[in-house]
Amino acid sequence: MSAHLDQTLAPLLAERRAAHLYRTRKTLQSPQTPEVIVDGKKYLAFCSNDYLGLANHPEVINALAESAKQFGVGSGASHLVAGHSSEHHALEEELAAFTGRDRALLFSTGYMANMGAITALVGQGDAVFEDRLNHASLLDAGLLSGARFQRFLHNDLNNLQARLDKTEAGRKLIVVDGVFSMDGDCAPLPELAALAQKNDAWLMVDDAHGFGCLGKNGSGSAEHFGLTQNQLPILMGTLGKAAGSFGAFIAGSETLIESLIQFARPYIYTTAMPPAVAAATRASLRLIQTEHWRREHLNQLIAHFRRGAFAMGLQLMDSFSPIQPIVIGDEAKTLAIAEQLAERGILIVAIRPPTVPVGGSRLRITFSAQHTFAQVDQLLGVLGDVMSREMSDVPHD
Ligand SMILES: *Cc1c(COP(=O)(O)O)cnc(C)c1O
Repeated sequence: MSAHLDQTLAPLLAERRAAHLYRTRKTLQSPQTPEVIVDGKKYLAFCSNDYLGLANHPEVINALAESAKQFGVGSGASHLVAGHSSEHHALEEELAAFTGRDRALLFSTGYMANMGAITALVGQGDAVFEDRLNHASLLDAGLLSGARFQRFLHNDLNNLQARLDKTEAGRKLIVVDGVFSMDGDCAPLPELAALAQKNDAWLMVDDAHGFGCLGKNGSGSAEHFGLTQNQLPILMGTLGKAAGSFGAFIAGSETLIESLIQFARPYIYTTAMPPAVAAATRASLRLIQTEHWRREHLNQLIAHFRRGAFAMGLQLMDSFSPIQPIVIGDEAKTLAIAEQLAERGILIVAIRPPTVPVGGSRLRITFSAQHTFAQVDQLLGVLGDVMSREMSDVPHD
């Protein structure tokens, strides 16, 4: 007879807690803005992925409300049954046009888009090559696909080529984050595209953190590097980050999209997102394309932070994206620093394994176009105090 459920699970929780890896949730009592309220206390937050400050934008809110009045709340069915509304369809067409692809297909979440695309494209007898710092959803999808799953060293084209040289797989799929979610650096996409073409492999890019932020018009990593559909045939983007809404999409050729509609199980067997969410995303797409000042201001904030941090001797990563992590290393120390920052009114999340490699615990600082220079200065001031105290090894606890 198997042990009681709770008796089996409890020691594992205790172990995780002892390793300083235990996760807890903060309950927000406010919208996602630079100033959030948690447990009745106001914090200056640098931890959301709402990079352009659109999650709480009046036009986006209004689009959601108006559409809900027209379409109701629930879509009522999956896309293939009867849940595909004109709002979803219009958003797909706008996403295709925006990314310069033939077509786009909406998914309910980015996790599902990655799972759906990878498992539809490769299986037994094939091989999937992933950067070792890829997002968990890409790694999970690669494992689930049944294809031979290989991870190559971060942004290391030689390591990837060596693995491609050895494979005898039928289909070869190379998958990377466009902007790496925990480091903030970019994949070398032009080189990867050339390497994929040379090796008869397909390139897929997860642009969760590039979409909205990179490129002159904000359409992401492909625009930033000028990569066509031919060079980058499988483009994934999420709508819950810079777009400030919810959901995700895959963009590419007519044949790719039709194949996903037929074979991507996380597309087929799930309820379509509420049409009003698609309508809200359409409003935010318009803002992404017209309000260039959001990207410009965001880039100025990032540059301002990096200058200030360098001046204080803080070690930053090679990132020009809104993700500006400070690696601390030790889990307990990272947690202690995050706690001290919170005591001083600054909310930054301590990111620990398995989200990042062991020994790579970090403060993941993210910026939004809604932040002001004064708020970045406030962050730098508090960070300077807390880090210098922590690094001079005053024992915590
Ligand atoms: C957030 C994220 C996802 C998942 O997207 P959701 O819409 O939140 O499910 C996928 N890939 C990357 C790189 C991400 O950062």
